Amino acid sequence: MMTETKRVNSKSVLEIDSLRKEFTGVAALDGVSLEIKNKEIVGIIGPNGAGKSTLFNCVMGVYEPTDGEVHLGETDITGEFTSRIVRRGISRAFQQARVFPGLTVRENMLANQDHEDENVVRTLFSNAEMTDRMNDLIRQVGLWDLRDRKAGELSTGQKKLLTIAAALMQDPEIVMLDEPTAGVNPNLIDDIINTIVDLNHDGATFCIIEHDMDVIHTLSDYVYVLNNGTNLTEGPPEVALDNPDVLEAYFGE
Ligand code: ADP
Ligand code: MG
Repeated sequence: MMTETKRVNSKSVLEIDSLRKEFTGVAALDGVSLEIKNKEIVGIIGPNGAGKSTLFNCVMGVYEPTDGEVHLGETDITGEFTSRIVRRGISRAFQQARVFPGLTVRENMLANQDHEDENVVRTLFSNAEMTDRMNDLIRQVGLWDLRDRKAGELSTGQKKLLTIAAALMQDPEIVMLDEPTAGVNPNLIDDIINTIVDLNHDGATFCIIEHDMDVIHTLSDYVYVLNNGTNLTEGPPEVALDNPDVLEAYFGE
């Protein structure tokens, strides 16, 4: 099967080993382990409170893990600052798409989370390589006609497409997407799915938290199911999502 071949053959990009995160008495993560391989789309699902967002926050250095390790390739990045982790090559797009509403689509592409200063945007614009990359990505996510619009005028789905494109600007090793289709108009969901597939064909690696089972089924090469801060099961989507324990965790309560 193709998904399995892909999984066996490619090298590991991100490895999470026995990750634990406690908040005053509560273990949001109680020893989660997972692996994302080069050029994969890995889905992470689990009911509310399973620990998905905490996992992303630990990977991105927003939270310092209580125990366990996060490796990007060969490098142990556990507990590093977010800015450093981003520079090492992990990008993130948030569930509530974060754009600068007063900047245009193209300006937003260059104004990443670390730079709110307008002058930084201008400096980056003068770099031809960056401009080419920006234009290619804007075309690829289907926002070309809106490139000089203010981001604040975009729909939720268009903002998500913009943040996905912006996350790819620095050619990251891996892109973490938190619920890319949440809150999106149903007729834009396919655009988002197709865009992610398209970017993946061009070599991008994705780790995606997603609540919508159909979306996870369509997109993922491999799925990890979390429950109560632990690994419940994993596998290709057609295997992992058919597991009775998963249906129980999702719909049983
Ligand atoms: P998910 O994203 O899968 O819905 P979360 O990672 O948001 O789950 O939460 C996992 C558990 O950790 C929940 O029980 C939640 O209440 C708890 N939790 C998450 N963040 C915090 C926090 N900052 N302080 C205390 N408890 C938290
Ligand atoms: Mg969450």
